[in-house]
Amino acid sequence: MKIIMLGAPGAGKGTQAKQIAAKYQIPHISTGDIFRANIKNGTELGKKAKTYMDQGALVPDELTCDLVMDRIQQEDCKNGFVLDGFPRTIPQAEALDAALTKIGQTMDYAIDVDVPDENIVNRMSGRRACLNCGATYHIVFNPTKVEGKCDACGNDTVLRDDDKPETVQKRLSVYHEQTQPLIDYYKKQNILKSVDGTLPMDDVFAAIVDILGE
Ligand code: ADP
Ligand code: AMP
Repeated sequence: MKIIMLGAPGAGKGTQAKQIAAKYQIPHISTGDIFRANIKNGTELGKKAKTYMDQGALVPDELTCDLVMDRIQQEDCKNGFVLDGFPRTIPQAEALDAALTKIGQTMDYAIDVDVPDENIVNRMSGRRACLNCGATYHIVFNPTKVEGKCDACGNDTVLRDDDKPETVQKRLSVYHEQTQPLIDYYKKQNILKSVDGTLPMDDVFAAIVDILGE
């Protein structure tokens, strides 16, 4: 099963993708997590990506597409994968389609997690991330058991630099300009499904399982 998660920053793509990956036994591929791991490890890619991410801008397609194409061709992706945060532009979607066509495959589902802009700023200012293991929490909707400590690995949880309100506004406008057109792109391919992302997390997941099947 090959799935794309669509939706604004903070809509809940990562939260749902992790659960999809666990239930359907497929890898969760988050380009944001890959960039953050590169930043943490001080790689060249990380240094380049950080300058864009800190401004709320997209990392250029040249730095993003090859990375994903290599990743989806690895052995653990042979039964499918869930993409979270990719594609974010029409050229990225076209690069993905072209790579899959070459190996005689297509995407199965693009799931749009629909959340209006008014809810997004709250979501992002309350998000706390563990930069060690990638777990995500929310101070109100999904708090850690011990304040400021990751439930999974015990490391500190932090407000991401790009989750500060001024950067969130910029990320939202980038989303509307460059990423939202993908909704039509996948509608035309007949693989678009929408879920109401304002519902509690478990209800959103139940709606996704209804789409994907038990
Ligand atoms: P994205 O991957 O789309 O950027 P996340 O999955 O990181 O978004 O979710 C953004 C924030 O909102 C996180 O703090 C997460 O815990 C919280 N969140 C996710 N889904 C819901 C939901 N259905 N209701 C309330 N909060 C949510
Ligand atoms: P995310 O973790 O998905 O919210 O992504 C965080 C940031 O990483 C984004 O605001 C972008 O700067 C960058 N990023 C992640 N995925 C992509 C992508 N597919 N294309 C371009 N930039 C990306």
